[in-house]
Amino acid sequence: MDRISSSLIEELQSRGMRVTPQRAIIFEAIEKLEGHITAEEIFEQVQKVNPYVSLATVYRTLELLLELNLINQTNFGRSQAYFALKDHGPHHHLVCSECGYIEEFADTIFEPIRTELDKQYGFQAQTDHLSIFGLCRGCREKGAGG
Ligand SMILES: [Zn+2]
Ligand SMILES: [Zn+2]
Repeated sequence: MDRISSSLIEELQSRGMRVTPQRAIIFEAIEKLEGHITAEEIFEQVQKVNPYVSLATVYRTLELLLELNLINQTNFGRSQAYFALKDHGPHHHLVCSECGYIEEFADTIFEPIRTELDKQYGFQAQTDHLSIFGLCRGCREKGAGG
């Protein structure tokens, strides 16, 4: 896993950007929550530290992190967007369209597909944080049982 060695604060500062106290609180919340989180979950966490930070500020900060390519965004086929730190490592998701079950799988699974697309089409595929929809094991078993 190629981790981003420094925190988000250090990362921004190293790019010569100003980290306001409000942004710092939001970064800390994102790092504390880990995994895939919604803007609302980040907002809730931020509110515990500083109730004056608005949801709009959380959204603006998330947009900035997306632009800087430090976080991922995915919606898992739901209405809400989920965010994850890039240092989580390259991975993808299996999303059950029946029960909403989500499981991560490693990016290496796409290695042979990328190689073939390159060989056959000279195409460099960007398989970055995909969600694959289908039926999970549990739902399949339920379906098979009637
Ligand atoms: Zn993910
Ligand atoms: Zn399911």
